[in-house]
Amino acid sequence: AQERYSGLKSLPAQTKCGAVVALHMNAGLIADLPSLENSGAEGVGLFRTELQFLIRSKVPRRGELAAIYTRVLDAAKGKPVVFRTLDIGSDKVLPYMKREDEPNPALGWRAIRVGLDKPGVMRMQLQALIRATKGRPLTVMFPFVAQFDEFKQAREHVFSELEREKKLGHVLPETVRVGAMLETPSLAFAPRQFFEMADFISIGGNDLKQFFFAADRENERVRRRYDTLNVSYLTFIEKIVERCAETSTPVSFCGEDAGRPIEALCFAAMGLRALSMRPASIGPVKHLLRRVDLTEAKKMIDASRESGVQSVRGDVMEWLR
Ligand code: PEP
Ligand code: MG
Repeated sequence: AQERYSGLKSLPAQTKCGAVVALHMNAGLIADLPSLENSGAEGVGLFRTELQFLIRSKVPRRGELAAIYTRVLDAAKGKPVVFRTLDIGSDKVLPYMKREDEPNPALGWRAIRVGLDKPGVMRMQLQALIRATKGRPLTVMFPFVAQFDEFKQAREHVFSELEREKKLGHVLPETVRVGAMLETPSLAFAPRQFFEMADFISIGGNDLKQFFFAADRENERVRRRYDTLNVSYLTFIEKIVERCAETSTPVSFCGEDAGRPIEALCFAAMGLRALSMRPASIGPVKHLLRRVDLTEAKKMIDASRESGVQSVRGDVMEWLR
């Protein structure tokens, strides 16, 4: 299938009306990196760092992590890589981490909540990232930020680790960008200052959708009940894009839905100009985006939304035919 789209590899995801959508890839292993070149992705929009923790019987050491992150950055050959700090808890449980049983782990002590309450591992990970950059740009993103204060505190950790590494004589990154994943509806309504402080926002649609509809992403019975192209959800995505635009905060979408061509088209119509997806989706998404006029798509979606439908999917499919 990848060959079918290989002719598109070096072409931009530019729509008929001239809008350009940046397509990045998601990764989690060094072995994923060759896809950066093969898929034509502009960078790694989400590097999930859980795997290196999940495959071991104890917490990996800073040196080991730094070596892995160095190899990731080397393999990216100057293309940007967004490293997401450890997102454990919920569906990703570390066997060696003592934790209390929680009745609702997805709503529990996870991701940045663990990182802020017990910062040891997060700080070690930040040190590893700083060392791995060896003077190159560093881009860090915190998962599951639900309120401004959490982001502020996490960001402070980045700066205090930079300070520490500097004192220890390590080379500092050329530039540092600190972003937040928007995975809880609350963050979309954070004060303007949050959007000003964040160097970028990435919408984590897998989690955002489960919390928006209160439908467990792991539960097949309820998961498929709510369409991603549901009018309420799309309108919410549009709202997030608008809030980011008010402060000129770069925003992308990195959940699985970004890799589905119809969804990607609708997200682009809602104003998103950056998407991150599994490498194999880049070709199909680009193929569709290059065939559409986004201004027309937006008009069609607006009309569909106003007609009172639950999901715009039917109308979008009809339009594409
Ligand atoms: C998401 O929630 O959309 C996301 C990208 O993170 P993960 O799937 O790792 O929770
Ligand atoms: Mg998530």
